[in-house]
Amino acid sequence: MSFRRLRKCIATVALSGTLPDKLEAAATIGFDGVEIMESDLLSFDGSPADVRRICEGLGLATYLYQPFRDFEAMPEPQRSRNMDRAERKFDVMQALGTDLTLVCSNTQAATIDDDSRAAADLREMAERAARRGLRIGYEGLSWARHVRLWGHAWRIVQMADHPALGLIVDSFHTLSLGDDPSGIAQVPGEKLFFVQMADAPKLSMDVLSWSRHFRNFPGQGDLDVTGFMRAVLASGYSGPLSLEVFNDDFRSAPARLVARDGLRSLILNEAEASDGAGLPAAPVLDGYEFLEFAVDESTGRELANLLETLGFRHAGRHRSKAVDLYRQGSVNLVLNAEQDSAAAEHFQLHGPSICAMAIRVDDAARALERASELLCPEWQERTGAGERQIPAVRAPDGTLIYLIEPEAAGRSFWEDDFELLPGVGEPAGLDAIDHVVLALPAGRMATYVLFWRGVFGLEPQSQLDTPDPYGLVQSRALISPNGKVRLVLNASESRATSTGRFVSAYAGAGVHHVAFSSSDIERTAKKYEVRRASLLTMPINYYDDLSARWGLDDAALSALQLQGLLYDRDDAGEFWHLYTDAFHDRFFFEALQRRAGYAGFGAANAPVRAAAQARQYSIATSLL
Ligand code: MG
Ligand code: MG
Repeated sequence: MSFRRLRKCIATVALSGTLPDKLEAAATIGFDGVEIMESDLLSFDGSPADVRRICEGLGLATYLYQPFRDFEAMPEPQRSRNMDRAERKFDVMQALGTDLTLVCSNTQAATIDDDSRAAADLREMAERAARRGLRIGYEGLSWARHVRLWGHAWRIVQMADHPALGLIVDSFHTLSLGDDPSGIAQVPGEKLFFVQMADAPKLSMDVLSWSRHFRNFPGQGDLDVTGFMRAVLASGYSGPLSLEVFNDDFRSAPARLVARDGLRSLILNEAEASDGAGLPAAPVLDGYEFLEFAVDESTGRELANLLETLGFRHAGRHRSKAVDLYRQGSVNLVLNAEQDSAAAEHFQLHGPSICAMAIRVDDAARALERASELLCPEWQERTGAGERQIPAVRAPDGTLIYLIEPEAAGRSFWEDDFELLPGVGEPAGLDAIDHVVLALPAGRMATYVLFWRGVFGLEPQSQLDTPDPYGLVQSRALISPNGKVRLVLNASESRATSTGRFVSAYAGAGVHHVAFSSSDIERTAKKYEVRRASLLTMPINYYDDLSARWGLDDAALSALQLQGLLYDRDDAGEFWHLYTDAFHDRFFFEALQRRAGYAGFGAANAPVRAAAQARQYSIATSLL
């Protein structure tokens, strides 16, 4: 069976702005159509026919007008009134140019718990709709009075038995109640009139508030939307897949940005439910090849000095640009001070910062193709004559991500572009980039998780909240299936936390810290000390607490304290780490050693690190 992608739709309620803004964003990003929510139409200063003209002008179909509430199985006189209400709704649908409306199951106390009454009313409504060439879809609402499950709604639709009446399923209503969607596969595809997709984080609250505020796009939450989509596709459904999402963060973010996330999530959801069909496989990642810092001449010198205290050596000079390579073990750090480059542009906006990272992939062409299918087109950087063009994409914050393929035998990519310098100086035992941490503006976690999961196949780990002296920091790690690329995302509602300060100092998201792995952390600590690396010091109370927590003996403890090391443990192994001071209060470096399969990131020590940084920050700012 060949793969055929279903049309994509978004409910206007998911996006911010006025109705024309929402429609424009949906069309620009590439949706085929929209479902128009009554609330958006009511607040629009124009007629349904005007909306129709806007949609037609944008090439957007109007797949659905909704909702029609509290209709079925009412006693008289509400029953007759509801039929009149339906006729008025049909007038609007015809003016809008849509043939389908969604009737969600009744929430009223007065509704009669009698499926045959519900079926009779829906049949009459469908008969009236059919006279005008319109259709009705019935959806089980998870907080309805009697009909909450899709299977129950489906029994009523079958009982009503009218060609203009079909079933609408909504992943949130089904999965939020823990109901099993697999039976949807047995519904004849043509009786499934519409499919609405939404995910949500696992929260314990009433299902109505959960739905109204915390729905998010497929793959951004904790519900099994892949299993749900599998059942939908197996039914033979050929209508549009629609995002019906109510989310406070989304409604306060730019509409195009949210629309792009939505379409990306839906393409990914459909492909994942089709065993990857329709989307090139995610790249196999083999670690970070380099990180690139945007600097000017003076911050470049300052950063180079800092790196030298950490055991990096000046290993190369670009053949034609003001770009230098610093190296230790397999870590490559590039300092770019070239005028009139993407790095210079980054520097103008953000100051000294990481403007690019390079990730080793098995197949750059396939990775680019996948990225482009997921609405992340290839980025072409200007290159000098004879210089290699490295394929790249841009992360949501604008950071360039270069894709580096394994070298064919012979010249390395470094030798092509760089004059390599002979090794001098002694390394400090750092051998690889263990992880990179990004600080994000509040409310943007879901965008980044989706990007890194979708385009690069990283697997999101569960979210942690870590305290900072000035607020909470949400933290979520993403790890490639083979463990070779680790990325940590931090976001904070508070502007005063270490993450929040970074985001405001930096004017947006960016790399907040880089952690290097050391094969011998004690040696690393000693080398740092000898070179007078500027390190973050931990208060003595931290060590007292460590001893109480882990029962370390006095010798072990005083060794840690002497070297300024932090310590953690998990079920598998042990973890030692230490931090440099922040560079211009923007980013800092960590050195770490994992033993015996320790899988975490030292989150237990994040609060004491944040407190030490806050102390340092207030000292630094009080000197200004
Ligand atoms: Mg719905
Ligand atoms: Mg870390």
